[in-house]
Amino acid sequence: MAPDLAIIPTMASTEVIIVGNEVLLGLVQDTNSNYLCRVVRTLGGSVNHIAVVADEIDAIADEIKSSLRRRPQLVFTCGGLGPTEDDLTLTGIGKACGLDLSVDAIAREFVARRYAELASAGHVSTAEMNESRLKMAKLPSGATMIENPVGTAPATHVRVNDSRIVSLPGVPAELRGIVEGPLRPVLAEIFGSGRYVEREIFVESGDESMLAPALRRASRLHPRVYIESHAKGFGLEVKFRITFSASGANDREAEGLIELACDDVRRLLQENGIGVL
Ligand code: ATP
Ligand code: MG
Repeated sequence: MAPDLAIIPTMASTEVIIVGNEVLLGLVQDTNSNYLCRVVRTLGGSVNHIAVVADEIDAIADEIKSSLRRRPQLVFTCGGLGPTEDDLTLTGIGKACGLDLSVDAIAREFVARRYAELASAGHVSTAEMNESRLKMAKLPSGATMIENPVGTAPATHVRVNDSRIVSLPGVPAELRGIVEGPLRPVLAEIFGSGRYVEREIFVESGDESMLAPALRRASRLHPRVYIESHAKGFGLEVKFRITFSASGANDREAEGLIELACDDVRRLLQENGIGVL
């Protein structure tokens, strides 16, 4: 059984906005949001909303605005940072937040360095900066560029009121390279020592419907703990595995939340004559 995730209070609430016609057209399957959900979970945060929008300034700006209205600590945008005309994510963010875009000196230096490397490796014919390349160095005012260890388009980080918007490129290898590399200090600042913890127990019951009332009650008593039952085996030998997962400000808090939920599940099941292995 799956409790309503909306009732689980969040630690660092996060939203993900995927930008790309290719995803809306079904040409590319979005894997970036799934990856980011896993990253956020292991950092002790939670993703509360995922949206996919077209490569259009207004569509991006509208989604950013509605996301910021929910006051998340972090909004990721993925895609639309490249050199081409249809890469409009930062323009959309600028429009939503009233921030002008201009060439950032550090980002310009980064893009120039990348093209110099590509030219000397023979991957591009010239290292010279042109309008398309310069476009990748145009950031909303107040934004900080984050290096892209894999590609040419830098990521960016901008604070808007109490939220932060982190813009990542769409190419999965680039996005992951940034998240697992230069973005780590930013994530550490947002998520602190947040932790995600899981635990499992096994119960002597072959009938999930007998477990359901106890688990539902425990979920209500422990809204920050995600409690789920999974069938293990088939027929008369079937046993159930119950998993508990929780995020906390640190290991101790997350473990403590799970400990209390686990105790209640054991008690409630035993009251219903179901033994815990
Ligand atoms: P660049 O244009 O520099 O490659 P970008 O940030 O502009 O980077 P996009 O143009 O939006 O990125 O996407 C580039 C490619 O990355 C897409 O054609 C697609 O193959 C892949 N991609 C984009 N978004 C996703 C996604 N959400 N999940 C998986 N792959 C994606
Ligand atoms: Mg695109």
